[in-house]
Amino acid sequence: MLTLDTPLENLTFISKPYLGKLKKLGIKTINDILFYFPLRYQDFSNVVAIAKVQANTNVSIQGKILQIKANYLGKFKMAEAVVEDETGSIRVTWFGQTYITNILKAGDFVSLAGKVVYGKKGYYLSNPIFEKIESQDFDQAELVHTGRIVPMYPQNQKVSSKWIRKAVKILLTQVKVSIPEPLPEHILKENGLLEINKAIWQMHFPSSMQEAISAQTRFAFEQLFLLEISVLKEKLRLAQHQAPAMPIKLEVMQAFVNSLPFKLTDDQKKAVWRILKDLEKDRPMSRLLEGDVGSGKTAVAAVAALNVIKNGCQVAFMAPTEILAKQHFKTIATIYKDFNVNIGFLTGKEDKFMSKKLKGQPIEISKKRLLEQTAKGEINILVGTHALIQGKVVFDKLGLVVIDEQHRFGVEQRANLVKQAKGKAIPHLLSMTATPIPRSLALTIYGDLDLTIIKQMPSGRKKIITQIVKENQRKETYQFVREQIKEGRQAFVICPRIEEKEVDPAEQDQDMRKSTWSDVKTVTKEFEFLQKEIFPDLKVTMLHGKMLPKEKEKVMKDFKNQKADILVSTSVVEVGIDVPNATVMMIEGAERFGLAQLHQFRGRVGRSQYQSYCFLLSSPGSEGNLARSKALVEADDGFAVAKKDLEIRGPGELTGSKQSGLPDIIMSSLQNLELVEKTRQSALDILEQDPGLKKQPLLAAGLKRFKDSIHLE
Ligand code: ADP
Ligand code: MG
Repeated sequence: MLTLDTPLENLTFISKPYLGKLKKLGIKTINDILFYFPLRYQDFSNVVAIAKVQANTNVSIQGKILQIKANYLGKFKMAEAVVEDETGSIRVTWFGQTYITNILKAGDFVSLAGKVVYGKKGYYLSNPIFEKIESQDFDQAELVHTGRIVPMYPQNQKVSSKWIRKAVKILLTQVKVSIPEPLPEHILKENGLLEINKAIWQMHFPSSMQEAISAQTRFAFEQLFLLEISVLKEKLRLAQHQAPAMPIKLEVMQAFVNSLPFKLTDDQKKAVWRILKDLEKDRPMSRLLEGDVGSGKTAVAAVAALNVIKNGCQVAFMAPTEILAKQHFKTIATIYKDFNVNIGFLTGKEDKFMSKKLKGQPIEISKKRLLEQTAKGEINILVGTHALIQGKVVFDKLGLVVIDEQHRFGVEQRANLVKQAKGKAIPHLLSMTATPIPRSLALTIYGDLDLTIIKQMPSGRKKIITQIVKENQRKETYQFVREQIKEGRQAFVICPRIEEKEVDPAEQDQDMRKSTWSDVKTVTKEFEFLQKEIFPDLKVTMLHGKMLPKEKEKVMKDFKNQKADILVSTSVVEVGIDVPNATVMMIEGAERFGLAQLHQFRGRVGRSQYQSYCFLLSSPGSEGNLARSKALVEADDGFAVAKKDLEIRGPGELTGSKQSGLPDIIMSSLQNLELVEKTRQSALDILEQDPGLKKQPLLAAGLKRFKDSIHLE
């Protein structure tokens, strides 16, 4: 008997070339193919007599081929047939697909499913799915592709929906695979869920839409449930570890908070307190600090980090980009300057070390020395990019890891840091994100983290005025920018991200802030245009990801010090850059950015008491594509943006986990908070009674299969 884990190689009905194609889609086992679920269904269950067809309806027609031949319509090749039943005959066309004339011959019986069109020569069936039938006895035929509700699988260049349908059918009817039920029986019962074999059948071959929906409900539950279990197991596992307990150094904390150039908001204070209380325990904190752009998360992290340092432990502070890491380094160096802290800075390309003796002035040391001093514990806080967790860096007594914008870092990389910790104790983790994650998502995707939300913005901030700018308003917008600059303010201009061909989208998504060469071209062009044609009397400057770190840093520094009026940039400027004097954010080609990203850009302004503006422009020809721009105008805080984003793009892109391989079915069910909470509760119940899933071998096996099939970030 074959099992779900049987590799497809063992199946004789799949040819070698197909094995290769399937592998490219990530389909390697019987499990993978049975769980390759339809994206949607088309209802072709309406089998009609040819004499009764009506234009613009989806139908199935069954009859005999009278004639079939390749034909031309102008330049276009097509296959053309005439099919008849007892009531009449109809023309059938397949554009481009002349190969069909090799498969279907006059005299064959066929079942066809497609759309009826009324043209010059009367009714015809356009590009129908076809299925050859053995005899005229259509009622006896076991139809797979026509005459029923037909599953349509995710489109790809490699394997057609038709092929998958056939393969699934063979697996479920001829090969006979044993599919064990991973869900405990009481969970099925309590939640009214279909048993797995039935559900798989109905998922692929429903006889009504209701059947398809019942199957989807079951799998939505199952997948969310398994996701919850794996996340919660991780949480329980972590809770078994020791972590350095760090008493709150109240006096230093107070002195530090008082030394800040601003008063912490209530939300910041609460967040600080929660974190300090966590750090007091000898169990590792895993906390996600979620706060809209500009809500002041850095200061919160800095307070917590100082407490760790004053307890004799080290802190690793990581940012997703070099620019941002550098900014954190500078901020931290400034605010820690009277607190006797040694700060190191390490990115892939450069490293610096700063000592308190130099009163805020960084001194440069070699990477080698920096690493040595980190290993000896002489560096109290090491700020940097991914470089911090890639290989060589060894800490003496790592007490806290701060990760800014954590969704850029993988769980695996985090585990790396955890591994470095000596003995059994592992560092506390504070992860920060400005991507507002709705509760339902946070509970699952980040379910192993405790959540603290900063809702409040520092006082005195004004709401950013967001506007869609039409092409004919461009001139007056430039005029407006000029006036702002006259008043002493500054402006950003963001250039659209150009997708280069041949770039693997998954790879590209992983680092959305990386510039490509064509991005550089656009940004250079825009820069020259603005400097020469529009603002010849002003100082325009430019930033893109292909510049050297030193150059980037100089541009940012000069802009921050108001040595330039306008910064034209690619999306490298996206996260975290803090230039309070800037009040205009002009986004070209806004339709090319995701909503969360647009919100991030907008968050670059409105960081002071000045009224700020965000202008959204479209690339020529795409003015119709305004959904996201409109959503941004309507939604001003991060949570509203997240909600809209969820509606427009789906949760995958929101969390950047699109490429994480979370099944689509999970992605859509994550929007269902009730289901999320139900599955979470069920998962908790199970784990409470049986944390190792020892009594539930089938569930454990299902969980393993599930984890193998996804990569949670
Ligand atoms: P984010 O949460 O986006 O990381 P930052 O930590 O970069 O925000 O803070 C944004 C800006 O707000 C910085 O210039 C910071 O100095 C300032 N800031 C932080 N907290 C406060 C506060 N309580 N009052 C006034 N300004 C603050
Ligand atoms: Mg930040």
